[in-house]
Amino acid sequence: MASSVNGPQIRREKETVALMIALYCRKVHAGRERTDPRERVRDAAAPLCAECAELHRYAEQRLDRCRFGEGKTTCLACPVHCYATAQRDQIRRVMAFAGPRMLWRHPVFTLLHLLDGLKKGHSQ
Ligand code: SF4
Ligand SMILES: [Zn+2]
Repeated sequence: MASSVNGPQIRREKETVALMIALYCRKVHAGRERTDPRERVRDAAAPLCAECAELHRYAEQRLDRCRFGEGKTTCLACPVHCYATAQRDQIRRVMAFAGPRMLWRHPVFTLLHLLDGLKKGHSQ
């Protein structure tokens, strides 16, 4: 059972995923309509498109319910990966695109995220 779903590691993962989706949407979905200003996430030049807004909500909801709590690795390195197949494919595309670019924009943050990904010891 999760020890906490609102500690620094979960918050960092939420921040990471928000930044990555924002970057991906800004670059890959540049021509899309952005209809909901509430979906603006930090560091995003524009609100998210509908598809990315939904993915962002989904990722936050997964983290709110993460069974590993503060003991978690990154979602990408998670042996369980609680995402449904469609969302898992989406988030992998986002991370493959945004991961290398994040290193330049947020080097310290990215390093911390990579260290989180090296954590082991999940039991199901
Ligand atoms: S993918 Fe793994 S680490 Fe991420 S929220 Fe789901 S169970 Fe937790
Ligand atoms: Zn988008």
